[in-house]
Amino acid sequence: MENRSHLKNKSRIVIKVGTSTLTYENGKMNLSRIQKLAWVLSDLTNKGFEVILVSSGAITVGAERLKLRQRPSETKDKQAASAVGQAILMQIYENFFMQYNQVIAQILLTKDVLDDETRKENTRNTFFTLFDMGVIPIVNENDTVSVDELGFSDNDSLSSYVACLTDSDLLIMLSDIKGLYDSDPSINPDAVMLDTVTEINDDITYLAGETKSKHGTGGMATKLMAAKMATQRGIDVVIASGEDPKDIFDILNAEKKGTLFIGARTHMPPN
Ligand code: GLU
Repeated sequence: MENRSHLKNKSRIVIKVGTSTLTYENGKMNLSRIQKLAWVLSDLTNKGFEVILVSSGAITVGAERLKLRQRPSETKDKQAASAVGQAILMQIYENFFMQYNQVIAQILLTKDVLDDETRKENTRNTFFTLFDMGVIPIVNENDTVSVDELGFSDNDSLSSYVACLTDSDLLIMLSDIKGLYDSDPSINPDAVMLDTVTEINDDITYLAGETKSKHGTGGMATKLMAAKMATQRGIDVVIASGEDPKDIFDILNAEKKGTLFIGARTHMPPN
């Protein structure tokens, strides 16, 4: 088993939180968890970390506010719900982060921005300037102008793009998926979680199977694809449970939480 002690040396981290972590089954916001998350991330910034939060939740929160009976499935309805929910999400974040005197910013991205050199450079400069100011950028996809075929496909992939764009050295993906198991834990009670993965090859991808998150759009397969992109660019990735945001401290303290995917030592240039 690989030693995780190098995780103690990380300084710029991206934390991706899924809808299942931020909301209850009924679509309402899990305020105690969001408050804890705000506390942990503010404390990390106080310690000198540069932190980016990639947050989902806009569609679910918007659907709840609009009293839709279920999460919308048509693109235009998802976009409308997201436009409502994103504002509510940021309002809640602002309230909690303010309690810890932590300034936050909203960054909404679309994939085409990152395909254009000038716009990509502008986005990088914004992130770096916010870091210099001690601000935590909170990122989501700009759902209003993204359509399925052209978008990031899910926030797992968005978080990986953001980690690469900002030369981050660790990406932590938190959700109701606790890590990568050697077989499906919902079927096999003896399934064992892998501690460390050094290469995301076909055998590893096979293990992802069809594991789906209960809410949101991601599953283990999308997480592995996102992790593959980041690790190929030398970024370590941890997939862990979002149940207790304090686990982020443990992960950065090299404790055994979730599955660690080791970034390639010789890696592809940033995209
Ligand atoms: N942008 C979507 C939202 O905020 C999330 C997409 C995803 O979680 O993959 O609801």
